[in-house]
Amino acid sequence: MKTLRDLGDLDGKRVLVRVDFNVPLENGTVADDMRIRAALPTIEELRRRGARIVLVSHLGRPKDREPSLSLAPVGARLGELLGAPVSVAPGVVGGDVRAAVDGLGDGDVLLLENVRYEPGETKNDPELAGELASLADVYVDDAFGAAHRAHASTEGVARLVPDHAGGLLLEREVSTLMGVLEDPARPLVSVLGGAKVSDKIGVIDRFRESADTILIGGAMCFPFLAAQGHPVGDSLCASDDVELARRTLSSGSASRARLELPVDLVIADRFDADASTRELDGLDVPDGWMGLDIGPRTAALYGDVIAGAGTVFWNGPMGAFELAPFAAGTRAVAEAVAAAPGTTVVGGGDSAAALERFGLADSVTHLSTGGGATLELIEGKQLPGVEALA
Ligand code: ADP
Ligand code: MG
Repeated sequence: MKTLRDLGDLDGKRVLVRVDFNVPLENGTVADDMRIRAALPTIEELRRRGARIVLVSHLGRPKDREPSLSLAPVGARLGELLGAPVSVAPGVVGGDVRAAVDGLGDGDVLLLENVRYEPGETKNDPELAGELASLADVYVDDAFGAAHRAHASTEGVARLVPDHAGGLLLEREVSTLMGVLEDPARPLVSVLGGAKVSDKIGVIDRFRESADTILIGGAMCFPFLAAQGHPVGDSLCASDDVELARRTLSSGSASRARLELPVDLVIADRFDADASTRELDGLDVPDGWMGLDIGPRTAALYGDVIAGAGTVFWNGPMGAFELAPFAAGTRAVAEAVAAAPGTTVVGGGDSAAALERFGLADSVTHLSTGGGATLELIEGKQLPGVEALA
């Protein structure tokens, strides 16, 4: 992959930068600016090098030109963070946008409107890619979170602008995640949680070959426990997932990693912050109850394994952490990861949100900004957005 270091003189050049500004909005303002901050190093370097910067991003899934999904609030927040004016274009492509690009001075920043206002974006329409390419002398892709999709503003435009490179964020994401897979300091401990085994089976399989220990938590533990014969009550546990878990357990001897499951649980009579809850020192969930978090003994055991790791990769909360009574397991793991002396990498949308919520986002080596892209890279898939930057 080409990087910013491979690009020559950028002084006065129009650089189209694909960023991932797909951030949550609340009441018309940016509720979480992590992804905007993550793009700053690339934007700042390009400004220092005298580029005329044209930013392009998607936001949500607009059906039409939904005004509530305009990037205007994002432009405002970016301007505050950069300490420089950021203008927002009247659209994605077309005459008015071209005029705005032509009006840029060296170091100026223009943010195009939500690229998904154009239906050709997700279809990787060559015409839209061509129009975007015509706005640029150089193309930089820094949108790691969108790299697993071949869209017009990622894969399509990269093919049409020969002078292209991955930005600093994308470069760091790819090199950090590949480092975990290919050359980790050992022991490599993978902490995997979240909702469903089927979402993560590719990741589990990859780490069964490369990790030393896999710690399973979240709702994902119930298919494994069910496969071992434990009653799971009303816990989240799809029958397909039980089958996947059974296969994983039965082929365990062929894998490198030791797979660890919880030894205790927090259970409740319903999925609600006001539910009746109790700690279950065991794994047999009674009828009418559901497991919503790992228990304190499990959290302590997992914490010890994490503390002894050379490398930790964590994806997926340990419980329904959005509800306070079921957040303790995820918090304990987050604190253990933050305190661990080894290299610590966290990926996944909800895992990142959990880390932010606990104020620990700056205490890990790398907090990946990609959800699906992170998981696909770990699974060993080629990311079209990255492949196009060769
Ligand atoms: P990530 O986005 O980090 O990859 P997932 O999307 O796989 O994580 O899973 C996150 C979701 O899993 C959270 O919304 C959380 O509430 C839910 N979850 C975790 N454990 C449980 C559980 N025991 N029961 C129900 N939901 C759970
Ligand atoms: Mg998620």
